[in-house]
Amino acid sequence: MPLVPMRQVLDEAARGGYGVGAFNVNNLEQIQAIMEAARATKSPVIIQASRGARKYANDRFLYHLMLAASEIYPEIPVVMHLDHGNSFETCKSAIEMGFTSVMIDGSLMEDGKTPSTFEYNADLTRRVVEYAHARGVTVEGEIGVLGGIEDGHGAGGSGLEHLTDPEQAAQFVEKTGVDALAIAIGTSHGAYKFTRKPDGAVLRMDRLIEIHRRLPKVHLVMHGSSSVPKDLQDIINAYGGKLKPTWGVPVEEIQLGIKNGVRKVNVDTDSRLAITGAIRKVFAESPEKFDPRDYLKPAREAMQKVVEARMTAFGQAGHAGDYQPMTLAQMAEQYSGALVR
Ligand SMILES: [Zn+2]
Repeated sequence: MPLVPMRQVLDEAARGGYGVGAFNVNNLEQIQAIMEAARATKSPVIIQASRGARKYANDRFLYHLMLAASEIYPEIPVVMHLDHGNSFETCKSAIEMGFTSVMIDGSLMEDGKTPSTFEYNADLTRRVVEYAHARGVTVEGEIGVLGGIEDGHGAGGSGLEHLTDPEQAAQFVEKTGVDALAIAIGTSHGAYKFTRKPDGAVLRMDRLIEIHRRLPKVHLVMHGSSSVPKDLQDIINAYGGKLKPTWGVPVEEIQLGIKNGVRKVNVDTDSRLAITGAIRKVFAESPEKFDPRDYLKPAREAMQKVVEARMTAFGQAGHAGDYQPMTLAQMAEQYSGALVR
């Protein structure tokens, strides 16, 4: 099965009333973990690479690993998505490399740190949409500014400083024609999202519901949506790690989001925690081992376990075979045929 445009996967998710996890990768083992989880749960899946991942692994490695995934798991619709593109050029190069979906994060300036103006964001996003849609590639935009910093990207802060305004979100979608919209509702990138179990004061699900009411047909994206489970933190700390107590986005809040228009859920930290805990355990318990497979295999299995749990919780499990995947050419034709919404 070829790599699939994200728009189709999200449209199908909207039809079926479920969410789709978007899991970040940097290497072979993470891609294998996600694909095994997708096969075990029969899930369509979004695999995403950040600018940091592209730099770490090199685009050609990532692309060919993803192609291998689509060959080895022909029954699974796989989207290859660019996470937080910071410029037109970054998105263009990803599209040239074979990504079937890109995020242009115009909520920040090209430095990936400074919040931008609405006009800057809308203009840049519109340009990316025109370029991408002509090639059948999906575009995710962002309005409002997320909290935290990851891989050098982000404005910092708690995520409550620049919450998404529903009216502005509506104007943004109208002006840009984006396929999916990332919103700021108090979530942050990285492991340290909340200093206590989040309530409505810090995780603004009310705002998400308001945005969905204003834009019922728009596919919403929740960023920074790892749940940072205590058991994964405990494994790391039990074997010599030093994580400070922290809280993520509870799975039941994500499920509430999915009931209210969220179709893509970004998860990275949970995979990182699972991998690190498994590796630390092997190092601590079997210090005589030195074959990388002795710790990368348990790491891969630990990540698969957490990804499977998320796929099941988000409702995408069982939906891999629901539809015939579209090619980018077919999608481009669909975009050119009429207004997208
Ligand atoms: Zn993000």
